[in-house]
Amino acid sequence: MAPARQSSPRTKDQLHRAVIFLGPPGAGKGTQAKELARHYGVPHLSTGDLFREHVVQGTPLGLAAKPIMERGELVPDSIVLKMVETRITQPDCAKGFVFDGFPRTVAQAQWLGELLKQQGYKRPVVVHFAIEPALLIRRLTGRRMCKVGGEIYNVFERPTKVAGRCDNDGGELEQRPDDREEVIGPRLAAYEKQTAPLVAYYRRLGLLHDVDAARAVTEVFERVLEVVGGAR
Ligand SMILES: [Zn+2]
Repeated sequence: MAPARQSSPRTKDQLHRAVIFLGPPGAGKGTQAKELARHYGVPHLSTGDLFREHVVQGTPLGLAAKPIMERGELVPDSIVLKMVETRITQPDCAKGFVFDGFPRTVAQAQWLGELLKQQGYKRPVVVHFAIEPALLIRRLTGRRMCKVGGEIYNVFERPTKVAGRCDNDGGELEQRPDDREEVIGPRLAAYEKQTAPLVAYYRRLGLLHDVDAARAVTEVFERVLEVVGGAR
């Protein structure tokens, strides 16, 4: 994404906390989380990346997680939490960090809250990407990718000049299997079911900030900066 105005190097604000992003697939939280980490000069931590690093390096945690991941099962908290703890106690996390895809459950959130307190961080900020399901479905089901150059279009929001053909190279556009309506519906329902208790938990603690994810990417980022910069 294009860097937002506030992203200029003049502001090297201090974070000293964890920022947690919650949002459904397709709401753009991955992009925003990375951009925020870049803005503050802190690590962007995705549990998926952590798993892969441990597996590649063949650490004891990686060796334990590998067969579980290969069976397509959920890696248990005993392993996930140890990986997260090992990561966030490294020196590069001293100024704070941005979580993408963690925590996923209230139990993980409680554990994380305790750890952050012990480590002397300020209270975490939780950025919740709120978006109308109908709009999200439109965004996801409208997505088309060029078979030749991989360009991404959207039949509703970013149509090509010639239907079904890439503007750059005339390549044929295709819809990825994951973006089909019959797959999207259950994916979003599963997300809602899993995340609703977590959203309620953080809202109760007063840590949750809703961000309207239907807006343009740069507007969403400005709002994210406002929320994170204004947190106490
Ligand atoms: Zn193309």
